[in-house]
Amino acid sequence: MADDSKMLHCDFCGKSNHDVRMLVGGLKANICNECVGLAWQLSKESEIRESVGRMVKRVMFPVLAIRDFFAGKPS
Ligand SMILES: [Zn+2]
Repeated sequence: MADDSKMLHCDFCGKSNHDVRMLVGGLKANICNECVGLAWQLSKESEIRESVGRMVKRVMFPVLAIRDFFAGKPS
């Protein structure tokens, strides 16, 4: 029977340290490089969503101001 005493598992996807390239051990949980990559990607995507939201607001504000300027001005 194989010795599993040194076998660690990712607490997020359940893969063992033999199945992944890297397993990072925390105090109460382990995470593999694949889950770290996924978490990083998700955080990056939410960052992108936030910055796109900010950008849209920045772009839309002058657009609305210009529209109001032309709409509000009596000819
Ligand atoms: Zn994992």
